[in-house]
Amino acid sequence: MVRVGLAMLQGARYEHAEATKAASLQLGVDVEIIHLKMGKQVNAELDCLILPGGESTAMRKASQSESLLEAIYAWMSEHPTRPVLGTCAGAILLAQPDSAHEPFIRTGISRNAWGRQRDSFEAMLEVSLEVPAGKDVELNADERNQFNHQPLPVQPSASESSAKQFHGVFIRAPRFEQSSIECNPIVSLGEETVGVLDGARLALTFHPELTGDYRFHRWLLHRASNAD
Ligand code: GLN
Repeated sequence: MVRVGLAMLQGARYEHAEATKAASLQLGVDVEIIHLKMGKQVNAELDCLILPGGESTAMRKASQSESLLEAIYAWMSEHPTRPVLGTCAGAILLAQPDSAHEPFIRTGISRNAWGRQRDSFEAMLEVSLEVPAGKDVELNADERNQFNHQPLPVQPSASESSAKQFHGVFIRAPRFEQSSIECNPIVSLGEETVGVLDGARLALTFHPELTGDYRFHRWLLHRASNAD
């Protein structure tokens, strides 16, 4: 059983819950998804974390009353080998934590650096990350997110599951400051790095949970089931 802590501060959190469920079925790994709303829920029982995308300033504010981010940062410092997936605003929170913590991914990041909301875009990306293949699954109504958000239908067929291409959805996305990247670049958009891996922390500037390709969630579950 893999216990996944999902930060429920704001943003695309229900989509991440659904993608995590789908990835668990693809891998045949049991998961429990813990919807984190209060700092006191963040404990040593969690095997991995997801920091969704949305709006990082809103997330920092939403965290204040129940100290969720503070607890998440403390947990990451205590458990450096347990995997964390941060997407978009989640990547910002990893690269620019609070004043009590060093960055959890070694790279600079600039917010909103592709432009305004209307400059949001989709693009084909190149991924170099070892991820176990998953079997095809169909989620039933109970397993879908409660708002019935539909992922973009880009699920790769079994024969393509090892393919390196990934459909990237960038929504008022941040950019890694390319010359400052001191960890592993693992996803690129042309020449530009848009995903990095630093130890057990994977940070993506796009939104994989909005597509039907669950490989990054499989990576998280696979890595969590093999961590100490
Ligand atoms: N623009 C947002 C921020 O600065 C991030 C966008 C996203 O997560 N889709 O926090």
